[in-house]
Amino acid sequence: MKEKAHIVVIGTGGTIAGRGASSVNTSAYACSVLSIDEVLSGIPEVAAVSRVSAEQLMQIGSENFTTEHLLQLGKRIDTLLRRDDVDGIVVTHGTDTIDETAYFLHLTLKSPKPVVVVGSMRPPSSLSADGPLNLYNAILVASSPASHAKGTLVVSNDEIHSARDVVKTSTFKLESFRSPYGPLGYIVEGNPRYYRVPARRHTTETQWSVDEIYQLPEVGIVYAHAGIDAAVIEATAQSGIRGLIYAATGNGNVAGHVVGALLRARRRGVQIVRASRTGSGIVTRNGAQPDDEYDWLVVDDQVPQKARLLLMLSLSDGQHSTELQDVFYRY
Ligand code: ASP
Repeated sequence: MKEKAHIVVIGTGGTIAGRGASSVNTSAYACSVLSIDEVLSGIPEVAAVSRVSAEQLMQIGSENFTTEHLLQLGKRIDTLLRRDDVDGIVVTHGTDTIDETAYFLHLTLKSPKPVVVVGSMRPPSSLSADGPLNLYNAILVASSPASHAKGTLVVSNDEIHSARDVVKTSTFKLESFRSPYGPLGYIVEGNPRYYRVPARRHTTETQWSVDEIYQLPEVGIVYAHAGIDAAVIEATAQSGIRGLIYAATGNGNVAGHVVGALLRARRRGVQIVRASRTGSGIVTRNGAQPDDEYDWLVVDDQVPQKARLLLMLSLSDGQHSTELQDVFYRY
């Protein structure tokens, strides 16, 4: 008989480890209170499919994640993945920034073994809690040979998403996680089924390795709106950041009265990247603004919070603007 896969489940907190005052508290509850062992005790069914060991790495809401937390988590996973007796990793995580953590791992881990990040929209104490099945599914996905070499995955609501594409789109709905090109697959009756694979480079094919990263340059995001004050851009650009993602309206449109502030920031050495606040679609290089002339970049189709991570990693390599633009088209 084939041996069961050994999956290490790393607890970091979040709603999946939360508890409400009553079973009807689906939105107001205490987050990050149950230990990873308590969370796993809710899914004894998992013993039939995988050999699971658990460790509590941190116990925080994901809105509190910093670069240091990303590095701590990434380095721990990297160490575990090097072990021959570990077949895959599941990370339980708050849903707020699950897309950022998963994307960071997707870009910096150096193993084809499955890494799955999972959260829940409702605490385990609530009626129709989604955490137990999400976690069970995540362990199945991490145990499946079909999940090899697909990069970091996010499992939620019976769907398997690529870390590159997935974003949280609702504050409370179970179907909050969406990828603009759809999920990679589903989990049906305990079977992960894939229908497509990530087209962009990830994990073993990237230029970054988490074990070689000790700090990252800071990159800020400014969210555009009608009537935005250029002073917000000036203040952000002068806060010590090396790059600024401008979450512009539409296809990277920049209001005429703030172009000067962005140009000044660029002259002071801050890398400017045009993104879109719409949540999907491409920002066209040299479309709404003359990026070649201004020495600005565009995100391709990446959302601002993930473009930020990509720029932080790229700037840590000290790359030139042309190479930085290629990075956005490559990953
Ligand atoms: N505040 C929580 C977090 O991201 C929300 C959640 O887990 O769903 O940690």
